[in-house]
Amino acid sequence: MDTLMLGNPVLWTSVAALIGLTVGSFINVLVWRLPRMMKNEWEAQAHMVLGHPPAVKDPYNLFTPASHCPACTTPLRLRDLIPVLSFAWLKGRCGHCRAPITWRYPLVELAVAAVWAFCAARWGMGWEALAWAGFGTVLLALSLIDIDTMLLPDTLTQGLLWAGLVASALGWTGVHLVDSLWGAVAGYGVLWLVQALFGLITGKQGMGEGDFKLLAALGAWLGWLALPMLVLLSSLLGVCVAIFMRWRGLLKPGQALPFGPYLAMSGALMAVYAPMLVFNHRYVF
Ligand SMILES: [Zn+2]
Repeated sequence: MDTLMLGNPVLWTSVAALIGLTVGSFINVLVWRLPRMMKNEWEAQAHMVLGHPPAVKDPYNLFTPASHCPACTTPLRLRDLIPVLSFAWLKGRCGHCRAPITWRYPLVELAVAAVWAFCAARWGMGWEALAWAGFGTVLLALSLIDIDTMLLPDTLTQGLLWAGLVASALGWTGVHLVDSLWGAVAGYGVLWLVQALFGLITGKQGMGEGDFKLLAALGAWLGWLALPMLVLLSSLLGVCVAIFMRWRGLLKPGQALPFGPYLAMSGALMAVYAPMLVFNHRYVF
C-alpha cells in the first residue's frame, strides 16, 4: 500500500488525533441535528400530502442556526468551540448561564480522536488510513443516533455503502470490488430474509430497514466473507447487552433495543482484527 512517508509516525498520529477532535466536534452537531432535520422534512412532506399550508419555520440544518447553549440560547463564541479544552476550562458548564453541558460532547470528541489516531498508527499516513478513519467515524455517529432515536439515517448508511464501493474500487480497503459488491447485496439480502421469515412466523417486526442498509454498507467495506461473522458477532453482543439490561431492570419486556450499535461495533472489530481472513480470502479459500 503506498503511503506518503512524511515526517515520523508520532507526528502524523498526533496530527490525526487533532483532526479527529475537530471531526468529533462536528459529529456531536450531526448526531443532534440530523434526526431533527429528518423530522422537519417528514413534517413538511406530511403537510404537502395532506394539502395543508406548509408550517413556516426558521431554517434548520447542520450550519444554521449557529451553535448555542440549549438552556439560555446564547450563541457560542469561538473559544467555546474548542474540542475538549472548552469543556475543561468552562468546567462542564455554559459560560453564560452556567447550565451543565453533557459529558457526552467531550467523550465523543475524544473517541473520534482515538479512532483517527489509531487508523494513522495502524495504516500509516495515506488514503487507506483516511478511509478507515471515515468508516469508524460514521459508524460512531450512526450508533449514537440509533441509541438516541432508533433511527439509522439513509444519508449515513447509503453514503457509507457507496463510499465502501468507491474505496474498494480505488484499492483503499484491500477488498476486491467484486467481493465488496456482493457484500453489499448479500448484507442487505440476508437481514431482509431473516426479517421476512421472522415476520411471517411471529407477525412482528424485529429489525428496521436501517439495519439492512447498515449491514449492506459493512458488506461493501469488508467484503461478503465478513458477513456471517458480522451477523454472529452483532447478535451475540446484542443478546449479551439485552440479558444484562433485563437483569439490571433497565429493559422492560417487549421493549426494543437499537441493533445498529452492535452492527457498528462488529464492523469496527472486523476491520481491525479480521483483515487476514477477510481481505486475503482469495488466497485462503
Ligand atoms: Zn447557557
